[in-house]
Amino acid sequence: MTILDAHTHVFPQYADLAVEVMDRCGVERVVTLEWHDGFGDSLREHMKAFGRYPGRFVVFGNVDFSRINEPAFAQTAAEQMATDVDAGMRGLKVYKALGLEYREEKGDLWRVNDERLDPIWAKAGELGVPVLIHTADPPAFWQPVNESNFWNGVLHGEYAWWSYYRKGLPSIEELLAERNEVIRRHPDTTFICPHVGSRAATLDAAAEDLEEMPNLYYDISARIPIMGVSRRRSVRSREFLTECQDRVLFGTDLIYDDTNVPTGVQAQCLHQPGEIPLGDEDCRERYVETAVSFIRSHLDFLMTDTVQEDPPFRRTTRGYSIKGLGLPEEVCEKILFKNAQRLIDLG
Ligand SMILES: [Zn+2]
Repeated sequence: MTILDAHTHVFPQYADLAVEVMDRCGVERVVTLEWHDGFGDSLREHMKAFGRYPGRFVVFGNVDFSRINEPAFAQTAAEQMATDVDAGMRGLKVYKALGLEYREEKGDLWRVNDERLDPIWAKAGELGVPVLIHTADPPAFWQPVNESNFWNGVLHGEYAWWSYYRKGLPSIEELLAERNEVIRRHPDTTFICPHVGSRAATLDAAAEDLEEMPNLYYDISARIPIMGVSRRRSVRSREFLTECQDRVLFGTDLIYDDTNVPTGVQAQCLHQPGEIPLGDEDCRERYVETAVSFIRSHLDFLMTDTVQEDPPFRRTTRGYSIKGLGLPEEVCEKILFKNAQRLIDLG
């Protein structure tokens, strides 16, 4: 079966490491999402590095949000995007900072649905490249980090700042409503909302959004713990992915960068620093191993009904297991490759 991982972050200096992991798991291609500076000269330089592995990397770039408060920002960004698509960029990645971090000069947060940004979304549609836009986070990030919070094994120490509880930020529903307004306003643009559109814990709402907006797609990256945590959730996830089999992409959110490879533990496992040794000579090999087990965990979850007793995702302090979905082969083929092939120009 052909496998395309539609959500990774590969820093170009680690392309070889990513290819080693892909080969070990039978992943033919990955979409790598640039990290804020994926436009202009730096994008070209990165694409050159990935070009050493023909047919393995598809690059989604960025627009320069550091200039968001400059006059005519969106028009300039749209023009830059056209040039970058000419150079080989295959999609636009927008970080959750839109809605949660980018502020206007007077201090208010930029709204996701601000009409001044429309030229960017419209241009992506014209150019025929999808927008992978991350908005909000799991509802648990807005809730107290107590015993019943499924993310309580993560939202402390190094990751305490991920919690939005009582920080005066917009609610998850406000953010997702603004995002949906953008998607409705641009029916000719394809939007891929990662992490099941921040609705992995509420799949009824996720399915309703898909039904209402034909230009909306999801990826499942980093959300299989909640999708398989109980029998009830696993049954519902199976129904959801069967119903919406044409609208969901496989993704892992694997990260290969300088801050994480030296830890020897795939960043997405979300270990706290201090729990893992840094920079020893075997770290690269261990990083490969942990990335491989992370991918296999996703594939097993989709393709088999195995119960993973000790999944490689830190989440709740109580420990948990993931019940596999055992999806039919033709559904897996769509999620693992065919849907991405339809949406993304693979060159
Ligand atoms: Zn990501």
